[in-house]
Amino acid sequence: MTDGRRDIRWARRVPKWKVRRLYESDARGMRDEELLDDVGTTLWLRCRDIVAVLEAREGRVKCHRCARQNRHTVIHRELGRKGDPRDELLTCPVCGWQITWGDYHLSFKRKQLNSGGATTAFETFARDYPHARTPREKVLAVDRLIHEFHYSYKDRPDLATRPIGVNLIEGRIPDVVRFLDELTYGRGTSPAVIEHRAAWRGKIDRIDWIDLPPAGSKSQGDTPARESIRDGKATGR
Ligand SMILES: [Zn+2]
Repeated sequence: MTDGRRDIRWARRVPKWKVRRLYESDARGMRDEELLDDVGTTLWLRCRDIVAVLEAREGRVKCHRCARQNRHTVIHRELGRKGDPRDELLTCPVCGWQITWGDYHLSFKRKQLNSGGATTAFETFARDYPHARTPREKVLAVDRLIHEFHYSYKDRPDLATRPIGVNLIEGRIPDVVRFLDELTYGRGTSPAVIEHRAAWRGKIDRIDWIDLPPAGSKSQGDTPARESIRDGKATGR
């Protein structure tokens, strides 16, 4: 094994509790801006890494040693070369960092870093989030991202196949879906965020392998505002 893997630090997914607290603070109308920046930056780093994995698969591997010194260097793979692609030794022309494609591939395998059928969502957030200036713009960008989907059928481009939450939030798919379904909304929540949620739930209900309780069953007809107040009491806030 080449020692190049030591320089690779893939961004982690955001923990559920941070997202939950962010939505609770928003619902109360007292947005926690420090937490918003924390969640937004974590998601941004994560999306950048998802894009980096996609580019590497396409032949453009970023040098992770240069990146740690804030230099962006691309190492070009020889796609279609003879022999086992895993044996290809990648060498950074700037700092000399080396890794085989096989070791590089192992570094991101099973880490939910594949862009799948949601490339545009990840690329858009990676590109645009740093330009979000106000807390409101940041909240909307974060909320839109975590409620995005993979669309994997070329002949059915409108049919969502899988929520992207699991690429971004810690946990397994059923946990993350249930978690997103139970986020708190209230008086302080922006109407656009409530619309994202309704659209998300509509798409989730059309994915036959995901089974959630019927929409609204948890709150038994409560308005989102009342629900958030009750949740607030339950958590002793
Ligand atoms: Zn380098």
